[in-house]
Order: sequence, then structure tokens, then C-alpha cells
Amino acid sequence: GAAAHRPALRFGDRSLTYGELAATAAPLAARIGEATRIAQTGRIAETGRAGETGRVAVWATPAMETAVAVVAALLAGVPAVPLNPKSGGGELGHIVADSAPALVLAAPQDQLPDALASLPRVDVLVGTGTGTGTEVDGAVGAAGADAGVRDEPPGAPALVVYTSGTTGPPKGAVIPRRAIATTLDALADAWQWTGDDVLVHGLPLFHVHGLILGVLGPLRRGGSVTHLGRFDTAGVIRELSGGATMLFGVPTMYHRIAEALPGDPALAKALARARLLVSGSAALPVHDHERIARATGRRVVERYGMTETLMNTSVRADGEPRAGTVGVPLPGVELRLTEEDGTTVLEAYDGESVGEIQVRGPNLFTEYLNRPDATAAAFTADGWFRTGDMAVRDPDGYVRIVGRRATDLIKSGGYKIGAGEIENALLEHPDVREAAVTGEPDPDLGERIVAWIVPADAGSPPPLAELADHVAGRLAPHKRPRVVHYLDALPRNDMGKIMKRALAHG
Ligand code: ATP
Ligand code: MG
Repeated sequence: GAAAHRPALRFGDRSLTYGELAATAAPLAARIGEATRIAQTGRIAETGRAGETGRVAVWATPAMETAVAVVAALLAGVPAVPLNPKSGGGELGHIVADSAPALVLAAPQDQLPDALASLPRVDVLVGTGTGTGTEVDGAVGAAGADAGVRDEPPGAPALVVYTSGTTGPPKGAVIPRRAIATTLDALADAWQWTGDDVLVHGLPLFHVHGLILGVLGPLRRGGSVTHLGRFDTAGVIRELSGGATMLFGVPTMYHRIAEALPGDPALAKALARARLLVSGSAALPVHDHERIARATGRRVVERYGMTETLMNTSVRADGEPRAGTVGVPLPGVELRLTEEDGTTVLEAYDGESVGEIQVRGPNLFTEYLNRPDATAAAFTADGWFRTGDMAVRDPDGYVRIVGRRATDLIKSGGYKIGAGEIENALLEHPDVREAAVTGEPDPDLGERIVAWIVPADAGSPPPLAELADHVAGRLAPHKRPRVVHYLDALPRNDMGKIMKRALAHG
């Protein structure tokens, strides 16, 4: 466990030690416990149903208050529902109605939108009293039982995190304490992550990546995190030069880094000092991986996870990083690839046979809130979670994600073609800044390959014939795009993920 005086959290010029964090979170935890007990009693009186768990919403700005609120909810043993402050009223209304929180936790200065008007509000006051720090270890620990926090089974829900909404309306994944603990410990093993590590990140705090990995991860290790508030390369340089050891980012951040590196030797020097650069949440383009490797001598480590499964695979710190792969299953995670029927297991480790990734393990969520139909559909009869992601495996077990079954697998001319490798090829064209690939119905081919291109120079976009030749020469003729659309920017969500359903609908 971390000693009370050790640094835990830093956001800009505000920081808390473990002792201060514990002292700040404890009274809030008591308040949360009380308020949800009242809410539950009311609910029992209203519905006659006992046993429902109270929940609290957290207005999850990238600020100290969010981290404190989540730690307090964990201490109280009350599931927290992080809300994306940038989502519109419609989505917030949906999440609030779906998750029925007893209250919303927010920083005193936060202005809450109308969609939250019906919720009692509790301000998160960040003080600097002192505690022992062990309270925090307990809160972020697996189960109350071994952490001495609350007599909860490890299956008790810790968080309800809504999926990113990339493929449809967000679903609330109920994440048990056990999943958080096991995923963070598996990452510690894979990344040799210790209490000496100082993480820097600039990700939002309402998803698994920024919140569970980026905040709870360092706290579980007894190390610390510095949040940039907003990602920028100047912050990365400052923190890595100042002693931070790890950087977590999404591919759009590494893209910005790759673009900035040629003109910024200080950035290259800072990245070269980092112990570990980690990317996740979407595929890191090979082109960006290689540009960063060339300029810094460092290879970004990719990991693959989902809201529902937390982390499944990663390139290991002691393994060989390889562009375009997400590494090997983490300790405790069982992973298999299946054919289209969802049950026939692909045995091949040939780097070619494409199957759906299915996983099993203590890292999994328990259910989608209020969606028994979706929960049932997500699991096979023998208990494997169907990720909907398609992949191949290299002979040594490295997993390469091809894309999502729903949007990234194009069936054209009798071939099954992954959008990802075509996107990677297009990104290597000097006149292409961003690229996405989809399929659209075609009378001859079944589907034809469509490229959505953000040109490097809007005034002279690369013509279709040139892009088609470029892809055909690198991959195979049947993988060349047949249609091209030019855009100013790709539609992306808050995690920088390309929203292909927005593309397909024009
Ligand atoms: P929704 O489920 O609401 O449509 P989403 O799937 O984007 O949204 P998340 O749970 O945040 O919501 O994202 C998980 C998905 O992100 C995975 O299923 C996978 O498609 C993608 N992903 C995560 N990490 C990687 C990676 N390293 N490489 C490729 N894809 C990744
Ligand atoms: Mg998903």
C-alpha cells in the first residue's frame, strides 16, 4: 500500500497525496452511503422490491473532483455512473433514466445541464486534511473482504460505464470490483507497472481507458497520475521531461505526436525517456507507429479492450512490440477466434484466418443495465463473450485486429476484407492525412470498397485511380477502393474513434 505522504493525483497545479485523497474521499463516501440508503428505502417503499442497489452519477470532467468522487463511491461501495459532460441532453437524459442515480456528484463550479435537473446534487469539495492512505488502497482493491472496506463480494458492481456509442446507442456495462482489480493487476504484470511509475494522460474520465486504467490503475499500484486536463504535446514534453514514466493515449493523440515530431526535437527527446508509451481504444495506424519509432527509437505498446471486458490483450513490456498488433492475451484472460457461426473455434495461428474474438475471464462485466436481451445475445451458450471484433493470430499468438464485424469486414468478390489494412495502406500515401474504409452494396461484387479520405492538401486531393493503384500494389488488387469521397475531417467521437455509421449514412 502507498504511504500517506506519497503523491496520488495531480491535475494542473492541484495535487493530492494518498493521505489527502483518503481524507477528502471519506466524508464524501459517508454522504454517498447515506443518500443512497435513503434512495433505496424510498424505492423499496415505492416498488415493493428490495435488493436494488443505489447508484450515483459523476459529472466526469477531466478534473480532480471526478477522481475524488469515484474513489469516494468505491469507498462507499456504491456504484458510480460517470457521465460525459460533452454529451448532449438526449444522451444524458437516456443515461440518467436508464441508470436512475440517487444523486449527481459535481465540482462546485460545474454548471449542470437541464437533463440532470431532477437529480439532487452533491458538491465534491477537495480539501487537504490527512488520512492514512490505506483507505484508498482499500477502495481500489478487489473486494471489500481483502481490502477491509465493505463486506462486498468481488462480484459487487463498482461502476456502470456506458459504451462509446460507436456502433449504436451507448449501453451501460455493469463492471464488478473483481474485473477492475484483475484487469489492473494483469496490466501490472504485462507492463511491469509499479508504484514508482508516474503516469501522464489527457484522456476523458468517463470511459474505461481514462478512468479505470488512467486513474484507478496508478492508485492500485500506489503510484501517481498527472492529468493534462487537455491533451497537448507541450504537456507531454513537460511531464515526461519532469520524470513521468508512462503515457496513455488514444490513436488520435499518437497521430498528433507523429505529425509534430519532425519539427519538435524536444518532443522526440521526451518520448525517448518514457518507460512505456501505450495506445488503445482504437487501432493505432501502422504509419503513425512507425513514424514515432523512427523519430524516438520507441515503439508504442498497443493494448485491446472494451467497456464490457476491460483489457483483453496487450503487447508486453518484456515482449517484442510489433506495429499493427495488440499483443497476447493478458494473464487470466482466455481468448479464442471463431468462425461466423460463433461456435466453431479457429485453431489456426497463421496470420490469415479471420475469426471473431471471444473472451472469458474475471475481467468481464456482469450485464448491460436493463438490457437482458442484449446481455444474453452477447454471450455464447458456453459463457464466452462475443466481442464483435474480428482478428487473426500470428504463429506466435500475437493478435491482429482486422476490425469490427458489423462495420469493418467487407465481403467483396468472394473475399472477406478487413477495412483496417486498407486504411493503413492509404495512410502511407503522402497525400492522405486521414482515411476510413467502408463497404457499400454492389451488384457484381456483393460489396465494393469505399475510401473516405481527408487529403493532406484540400486543394489537390489524390485521385481514385492513384489511390487504387497504391493499395493494389501494397496489398492485392481486390483490396483496391472503387469509390472515393473527400472530407474535411472524419466524424469521430470523444475518444477519437471513427464513427463509421455516420459515414455510411452520408
Ligand atoms: P459501442 O459498443 O457503443 O458501439 P465502442 O465499442 O466503441 O462503442 P468501447 O467499449 O469504448 O465502445 O470500445 C471497445 C472497442 O474499441 C472494441 O470492441 C474494439 O473494436 C475497439 N478497440 C479497442 N482497443 C483497440 C485496439 N487496440 N485496436 C483496435 N480496436 C480497438
Ligand atoms: Mg462496443
